[in-house]
Amino acid sequence: MTRLLLTGGRIIDPASGRDAPGDLLIENGRIAAIGDAGEVGQAETALDCTGLLLAPGLIDLHVHLREAPFSGPGDDFAETIASGAAAAAAGGFTTVCAMPNTTPPLDSAEAVAWYVEQARQVNLARVLPVGCMTRGREGRVPANLAAMRDAGACAFSDDGADVADDAVFEQVLREAARIGMPVLCHCENAALAEGGVIHDSPLA
Ligand SMILES: [Zn+2]
Repeated sequence: MTRLLLTGGRIIDPASGRDAPGDLLIENGRIAAIGDAGEVGQAETALDCTGLLLAPGLIDLHVHLREAPFSGPGDDFAETIASGAAAAAAGGFTTVCAMPNTTPPLDSAEAVAWYVEQARQVNLARVLPVGCMTRGREGRVPANLAAMRDAGACAFSDDGADVADDAVFEQVLREAARIGMPVLCHCENAALAEGGVIHDSPLA
C-alpha cells in the first residue's frame, strides 16, 4: 500500500462541510482519512501543504482555448488546448468548459469530435467543448445540437455574440431542452450595445 500524507493545508470539503486546516491521508490514490493535525496517522511520504488549499477539483464553466480545427498559424497564439489544460491543472481545475468562439467556430459534430480527441491526447484537465448554438455562430440557423451532443459537447453557446433573432433563439432553446442540454447565453443586445460605453460612476 502506498500512503501519502498531506499536512497543514486548508481542507475544503463541501461533502462534509469542513473548511479548516488539517491533515489528509491518501492510500493507493484514494482519500482514506481527513482530520485535524496529527489525527490521521503516518505515511511513507508527507508533504507540507501549509498555505495551500486542499479541495475537490475545481470546474471552470467558461474558458477560451483558441485552438480550433483547421486553424492556421496565428490563431493559436493566445491559447491552445494543451497550454490551457496545463494551466487549468496547475491551478487546481480538473474540468474546464471551452467556449466555441474559435476560428472557425465549433459548430459541427466533426469539429467537436476533433476537439474531444485533442483534449484526450493532452490528457491533463478534462476539457469539455461547448458547441455553437447557431451555424457559424452567426445567429441565423440553429446548428445540429444533437449531433454535437453525441460527439461530446457539454453545452451550447454562441459566446461573444447574442442570438438576436428571437425565433432562432427559441428554436435553439426548444431543441436544447428536448435533448437535455444546457445553453450558456452571452447576454448582450448588439443593437443596444453598439458604440456604448460605461461611464466611471456609482451606476457603472
Ligand atoms: Zn467568453
